[in-house]
Amino acid sequence: MILRRIIQHPIALVLYAVLVFAVGFTIIFFVKQDTERVVKRSQIAMGTIVEIKVRDMADDEAQHAISAAFAEIRRLDTLFSHSLSASPVTKLNSVGDEVVEVPYELYAMLLRCDTLWRLTGGAFDVAVEALVRSWGFSADAPMLPGDDDLLLARERSGWQHVELLDGSRVRLNAGVGLNFGAVAKGYAVDRAVEVLHTHGVREGLVNAGGDMRPVGGLWKVGIQHPREAHRLLATLALEGVCVATSGDYEQYFEVDGVRYHHIFDPLSGMPARGCSSVSVVADNNTTADAIATAVFVMGPSKGMEFLRSFPNIEGMIVDDHGTVIMTPGFDNYLTR
Ligand code: ADP
Ligand code: MG
Repeated sequence: MILRRIIQHPIALVLYAVLVFAVGFTIIFFVKQDTERVVKRSQIAMGTIVEIKVRDMADDEAQHAISAAFAEIRRLDTLFSHSLSASPVTKLNSVGDEVVEVPYELYAMLLRCDTLWRLTGGAFDVAVEALVRSWGFSADAPMLPGDDDLLLARERSGWQHVELLDGSRVRLNAGVGLNFGAVAKGYAVDRAVEVLHTHGVREGLVNAGGDMRPVGGLWKVGIQHPREAHRLLATLALEGVCVATSGDYEQYFEVDGVRYHHIFDPLSGMPARGCSSVSVVADNNTTADAIATAVFVMGPSKGMEFLRSFPNIEGMIVDDHGTVIMTPGFDNYLTR
């Protein structure tokens, strides 16, 4: 009785309403915090848009971790650049025939590229800068090369022209150049993820133009459709693995209805034919990035056979008719 009288008192009623509102607001606030606590930032680097997301971390700590990861990506952008004067790659490409000592990190990457060249039967080959240049992709002015230009570029391309010596020393035959466009992005994603880790991030995602690696937890990511820019081809749920995609839809030009793009068959010196998109899931993005490029060069049937030969690598290929083929295990990552 007394309680009812107190509740009926006008001041008590107001206090009661305030209390109900406050409790409700607190509940909504915490539910929102739980589902939406993602700090994200984007920057242009490695020739693409890089987005970094951090989940469930205090704002200032997340911002600090993201800044450190971006700084690492920018450092690698310079290290592997074939155009910036501050890059050891630019220097190496310009000296010709001379033995040059390079930073160990670059040398370690070259050792990895050597393994990948052998593994992919030469489909993955970072000594293709002469080809990339003759097709105008290095200068962002792509065009059909003349026959003589193409012949010379083919002669000046290929891993067989690269000598790795002890003491982080390298020698390229004159006119031969290195181009890390097919693998540097994946490596930068791996390094950025490590930096996020060391800054205490437990859940995050680094996405460099479709090369994506989560830090922890489960992340749903989309893979772009190769012919419809605003459509997703697939959505993947990634946990402990990452994905990289190579496609003919970002850098290309058309002449007489024929598409010429930036992924070259090192043997013919021509844009590789048969695929429009290749996505590879692996435990690190450096491997995923390189293998996606290699499979693109191999074409759908050889590429699928290659992918199926690795128990820890899965892949999805869209051929140039739009047909989608996948390794059996790729299905496990698809969300429906
Ligand atoms: P994207 O840059 O669109 O992610 P890739 O990872 O496949 O695509 O990288 C393509 C880049 O790699 C090209 O722009 C070129 O610089 C370089 N490249 C082209 N052909 C090859 C090849 N056969 N092996 C290694 N690198 C290549
Ligand atoms: Mg690649």
